[in-house]
Amino acid sequence: MRKRIGIFGGTFDPIHIGHLRIALELKQQLQLDEMHLLPCYLPPHRPTPGASASQRVDMLEIALQSCTELRIDKRELQRDKPSYTYDTLHELRAEVGEHNSLCLCMGMDSFATLDTWHNWTQLLQLAHIVVVARPGWFLPESGAVADLLQSNRADSTVISQKSAGAIVLLEQRLLPISATDIRAQIHAGNSPQFLVPDGVWNYIRSNGLYQ
Ligand code: ATP
Repeated sequence: MRKRIGIFGGTFDPIHIGHLRIALELKQQLQLDEMHLLPCYLPPHRPTPGASASQRVDMLEIALQSCTELRIDKRELQRDKPSYTYDTLHELRAEVGEHNSLCLCMGMDSFATLDTWHNWTQLLQLAHIVVVARPGWFLPESGAVADLLQSNRADSTVISQKSAGAIVLLEQRLLPISATDIRAQIHAGNSPQFLVPDGVWNYIRSNGLYQ
């Protein structure tokens, strides 16, 4: 039996209901054995002020308190500079072995700009790419990403047949929620209640985040 491991990377600044539903639904729909949320490193003095790495992890931990299905992988935060997804996948592949399936999951916005990622054409050597729809974003119809999709597109049964190498597109519940909008709402004095878990909203308030 091939084990199926999902990786869902992001800034999670803050984690919101969009991320959580996607991760959980992907785990269930693809029958993943494990689903890991992988927060990425952000430079401390980035242009848009956000939460610190440890605050982003605190919020992830709060969000997952009552969810045993999803886990956090903190490896990229434990380095002192941004990591390339390609390098992280390399590390993960060495850990899980050649036989098991690795699924790199992302929203359509990330997939549409995949050709800006380091070593992007090599990612499929290490993992499958699973893409979920995101309101306002469409599949690229031409260009390098569209070509990669055309040559490697498969349905989700591929995950039990091969450990890497396919692009799977999934129709999921569309949730028009973004962290950028949540930060802007808070900055404008509005409540993001029901877009983030209550515990995360309490944490944001008590730490004065995104003001
Ligand atoms: P920001 O607005 O700050 O860019 P975000 O809401 O896009 O944040 P990220 O942490 O950047 O959140 O996203 C992590 C991953 O989750 C990306 O692959 C992104 O495409 C996906 N994603 C986030 N929100 C949604 C959503 N509502 N629907 C589909 N995919 C989403």
